[in-house]
Amino acid sequence: MPQAVLERAAADMLSWQGCGMGVMEMSHRGKEFGIILAKAEADLRKLLSIPAQFHVLFMQGGGIGENAIVPLNLSRGAAVDFVISGSWSQKSFKEAQRYCAPHQAASNAANGHTRLPDPAQWQLSADAAYVHVCSNETIHGVEFQELPDLAALGSRAPLVIDFSSHVASRPVDWSRVGLAFGGAQKNLGPAGLTLVVVREDLLGHALEICPSAFNYKTVADNQSMYNTPPTWGIYMAGLTFSWLLEQEEGDLQGIAAIEARNIAKAALLYGFIDSSDFYSNKVAPDCRSRMNVPFFLADESRNAAFLAGANERGLLQLKGHKSVGGMRASIYNAMPLAGVQALVDYMREFERSSA
Ligand code: PMP
Repeated sequence: MPQAVLERAAADMLSWQGCGMGVMEMSHRGKEFGIILAKAEADLRKLLSIPAQFHVLFMQGGGIGENAIVPLNLSRGAAVDFVISGSWSQKSFKEAQRYCAPHQAASNAANGHTRLPDPAQWQLSADAAYVHVCSNETIHGVEFQELPDLAALGSRAPLVIDFSSHVASRPVDWSRVGLAFGGAQKNLGPAGLTLVVVREDLLGHALEICPSAFNYKTVADNQSMYNTPPTWGIYMAGLTFSWLLEQEEGDLQGIAAIEARNIAKAALLYGFIDSSDFYSNKVAPDCRSRMNVPFFLADESRNAAFLAGANERGLLQLKGHKSVGGMRASIYNAMPLAGVQALVDYMREFERSSA
């Protein structure tokens, strides 16, 4: 979380803008929360340039919940194409089997998820209800630098993206997207809030068994208030959206500024890793994630010592996901360049001390 956002929330914790109630104490139907919700949505629309024909839904259930909620709403009993680019799309594919007939259109499992499957090779179905892509694979550290243009690939299906781990780190080309979903807990706010951005024409086709609270049309018709929304999460995300809108980097502002900063942070870390024989990253350079940087020590027997030294310096949670091993630096929006520089300085020092 950006420090400025946490400080702002702390200042308003007991009494939001002097109204005598904290956000956690308000009725979600009161005028105060109405202001918070409307501003959060307006700021997000501005930040990500979300076109008017898309609905912004604030939901619950996380990315894993959406793995079920998306097929419940969009599959219509038809085939659904999945591009398997890492653990998260694999998990989405597996969950969808409970609700529809998912088809694996492409997979990079054979190369250990170190490069994205080439869109020109995808085996897309003629009549798919949608095509699912995880646009940033958090565990394997592979990211689409450009969203696929399904129309150019001969598919009429809408594209669904799981943008959980890079939402608001770069602009989104909405002309290529039908639905985007993501848990808030990486770049937007605390865990518990799920963001869904869905095109109007995709509403209203849910399967009979879809729970009402997860029916996108019901949620949209009720402005995300069919059930009690995660009010604290929406408030914190709202503060984050306005923080993002205010960011400046040279002549750039808002999402362009944060993207420039993310590019610089990633370049610093990958640049150092590539310059060293002691560390390595296995992902093809044009598929590397700006947010999640997995890396390995050449001598893996030094892993525990590396992590212990990092902890001593306040460089926390660098252990890689258990399915991949090694290390992983997650350098989300709120991580400043100085934080990445501190990591690189430590990595250089550890390399020297290991020689
Ligand atoms: N998709 C992606 C890309 C993720 O990174 C995560 C969480 N790390 C999930 C889905 C699952 O999200 P949640 O834990 O909020 O259900």
